[in-house]
Amino acid sequence: MVKLTVTFLGTSSAAPTKTRGLPAIAIQREGEVILMDCGEGVQRQVMSAGIGLNRPTTILITHLHGDHVTGLLGLLQTMGMAQRSRPLTVVGPSALSKWLEVTSRLLNIGLTFQLQFVTAKAGAHLHTEDFDVKATPADHSVESYAYRVSERPRPGVFHPQKARKLGIPEGKLWSRLQKGRKVLLNGKTILPSQVVGQQRPGRSIGYSGDTRPSARLARFFSGCDLLIFDSTYLERDKDKAVERKHSTAREAATLAKKAKVRSLVLTHFSARYQNSSALVKEAHAMFPRAIAASDGMKVEVDYPDS
Ligand SMILES: [Zn+2]
Ligand SMILES: [Zn+2]
Repeated sequence: MVKLTVTFLGTSSAAPTKTRGLPAIAIQREGEVILMDCGEGVQRQVMSAGIGLNRPTTILITHLHGDHVTGLLGLLQTMGMAQRSRPLTVVGPSALSKWLEVTSRLLNIGLTFQLQFVTAKAGAHLHTEDFDVKATPADHSVESYAYRVSERPRPGVFHPQKARKLGIPEGKLWSRLQKGRKVLLNGKTILPSQVVGQQRPGRSIGYSGDTRPSARLARFFSGCDLLIFDSTYLERDKDKAVERKHSTAREAATLAKKAKVRSLVLTHFSARYQNSSALVKEAHAMFPRAIAASDGMKVEVDYPDS
């Protein structure tokens, strides 16, 4: 099985604490990297997580609040100093491209690579090397987007007994059929569908960014293998969650249940809580498999049938 790893680079909200940096999450699959949000100092977190600076990379920014975006400039600069040569794609609200353009001009940041900007909007859809990325509006105090990152569909299950019955010798021809290509045997064409079952969906990861829970998000994250959701507050501080357009741990868990996701990681914790145990406890009442993110934590996402 190809590994799909999610690393939590920063898990605090608003301001960093001694143990938590500002929001940033990395998804890695083979050589490819998807970064979601870039809190201040993200490049150090990227380096300590062992993520290369010259990988095929796409950066998804949820919104233009300082804690989610100010690390982007430093990261780009560090990539430039590391002589990055591959083009880089940045996705975010339209004002992000202006911010990037103005700040990199004022600070005289010369990039060694090509930067492609994609404007996030409802229904935006992007294909990277191994993923399909979708965006949908979140419900926050400024324009903000949630993202769903999905691996391409996997080939169906290969049936060796069917292949043998058709007289296909084991080896190269089997492997071609497994990869979805037809083969020619004794002048006869054999289609993959004769020996391989239906395509199976790839794994998908959802990230809410900062948001109130909403029916739109519950639909958008439907069936995700892993959901990462804003859990800034406990229920006892719900008035603040409503006022500042965030979610409580219980609300995150309720949405995860509604969306029938397979697993839930809570993140973006308010510094007012000493640790995450009360938040996790609150989430467990609605979604027993919820866990809390911590800086440096890695989660391996598996297939539902593995
Ligand atoms: Zn935030
Ligand atoms: Zn925010």
